[in-house]
Amino acid sequence: GLRLVLSQDITERDRAEAMRRDFVANVSHEIRTPLTVLHGFIETMNNLPLTEVERKRVLDLMNQQTERMQVLVSDLLTLATIEGSPHPTANTWMVVADLFSRLENDARGLSKGRHPLRFVLDEGSADVELAGVESEWLSAMGNLVSNAVRYTPEGSAIDVRWRLLPEGGAEFAVMDQGIGIDAEHLPRLTERFYRVDGSRSRETGGTGLGLSIVKHVIQRHGGDLRVTSEKGKGSTFTLVVPAARVRVRAAERT
Ligand code: ADP
Repeated sequence: GLRLVLSQDITERDRAEAMRRDFVANVSHEIRTPLTVLHGFIETMNNLPLTEVERKRVLDLMNQQTERMQVLVSDLLTLATIEGSPHPTANTWMVVADLFSRLENDARGLSKGRHPLRFVLDEGSADVELAGVESEWLSAMGNLVSNAVRYTPEGSAIDVRWRLLPEGGAEFAVMDQGIGIDAEHLPRLTERFYRVDGSRSRETGGTGLGLSIVKHVIQRHGGDLRVTSEKGKGSTFTLVVPAARVRVRAAERT
């Protein structure tokens, strides 16, 4: 009876408290690292006579660290926003083909010609629209595409595909032939700050928040995130979009 309920409450509260502590510890660590580096550079500029070229180099490196912190803070804000409200607030229809070309442009910018990129909208999807919060969809899809670019060595292809499902709804899939992920890590990928050890995570400078953002966004829109991966072979990340969020735009008559 009562005692059981109380002890469950306490366990629940303890768990929440532990998660909060972990989160604060992680955020602090992630902010401290670039700050330490920045501090070192400032000392260098203060104490050493630098040539103009060296000065420029140090400023570039400082800029990189600042950008890293900006990405972290912006990811944290995105997470706070979507975690704070259970359902998307703005619900508008957007043209999938437009989203697609924006994603493709961003991907080309990020890959800088290092990967053959194939963006394919399936037949019948030219007039399809997607419902929800545009910035959230862009961030979820964009995160998957940028991960594919960052975790795939130069020269191997990345395929991004949108298709309507026969049973209703649609699928947005990002397939890479990159480093792949060991099965043991798959269940934890969407945890905040989780990164696979020994992957290129550190040098690629991600925040470890990307996939937790993706998971929240797709869940808020009533869909699912699926991952299949094989170490050394590559990964496929799929957003399954429910039927209620997909429609075919009425043909314009002339
Ligand atoms: P990060 O900012 O570190 O990329 P994410 O939350 O987006 O954080 O991803 C979590 C971890 O999952 C990454 O650090 C990486 O180890 C792994 N990962 C994500 N996408 C891929 C991929 N396409 N191929 C291989 N590993 C990936």
